[in-house]
Amino acid sequence: MPDYIPGYIKLYKKGELKKRADEALKRLENCDICPHNCRVDRTKGERGRCGAPSNLIISGFHRHFGEEKVLVGDRGSGTIFFSNCNLSCVFCQNCDISCYGEGYEISEKKLADVMIRLQRYGCHNINLVSPSHYWPNIMMAVYYAALKGLNIPIVYNTGGYDALSALKSLDGIIDIYMPDIKFSDDKMGEKYAGVKGYFSVTKKAVKEMYRQTGDLKVDKRGIAYRGLLVRHLILPDDISGTKGVLEFIANDISKNTYVNLMDQYYPAHRAEDYPPLNRRITANEFQRAVETAAKLGLTRLEK
Ligand code: SF4
Repeated sequence: MPDYIPGYIKLYKKGELKKRADEALKRLENCDICPHNCRVDRTKGERGRCGAPSNLIISGFHRHFGEEKVLVGDRGSGTIFFSNCNLSCVFCQNCDISCYGEGYEISEKKLADVMIRLQRYGCHNINLVSPSHYWPNIMMAVYYAALKGLNIPIVYNTGGYDALSALKSLDGIIDIYMPDIKFSDDKMGEKYAGVKGYFSVTKKAVKEMYRQTGDLKVDKRGIAYRGLLVRHLILPDDISGTKGVLEFIANDISKNTYVNLMDQYYPAHRAEDYPPLNRRITANEFQRAVETAAKLGLTRLEK
């Protein structure tokens, strides 16, 4: 990565980063920053579907060693957890933070200080977890952080339900996109994540992420610095529609996509009320997913 300069630094030097952040923050007055398009005025205390206020709420930040190995390396991924979420997964594994918005308010300037602190710890990147309902504030924080010398890649770690207009605003600011693709059937998205058109929206979003950043690139140490990394959590009885997700990635994105097939599902939140989500997946279910990926020619797997 020695020669890689994150895109946000270029935009900062051109004076465009602050302009984009100012414009983006205005959108919170009639909030359309994610596909729910609630049109509430968050700056006047109104809340939309995500329940997020206009100020940033985070539940914490730390040097994380449990993320993908291409993000963690030997010094960790500088992870910041944002509260609230624009999805309502019945099996949410972070419900206190995502469903109930636990956390504390932080200004954009203080969030910039957090980013600088994570960089000083030696983290390889800034990893924004669940940013889709806060990205305008985050953009402003990145501006303040660039002013203070932030120079490591930024990872957009999202549930995948992102608006195209949001991603276009983020073009050139995000170095690594890491979306989940949770389901390949919109009906499953509606039933289990509470949103309409999950796969339809996510497909468009992931195509745009790929257009901006391409296949995942790693440096000599094996640390990612730019590109797309897709996560897919395998659910019991193939509720996640794994074949459809992997076919989309292989045929419509790139066979060279870095894919994390995740086997760690466990019943959380309201999953006990939604059988078969009330059990873990079996070794066979996971093996089938790995074989499907291999048949489709997807070889860059983290599993
Ligand atoms: S970010 Fe929240 S308030 Fe804004 S459109 Fe999305 S769900 Fe609605």
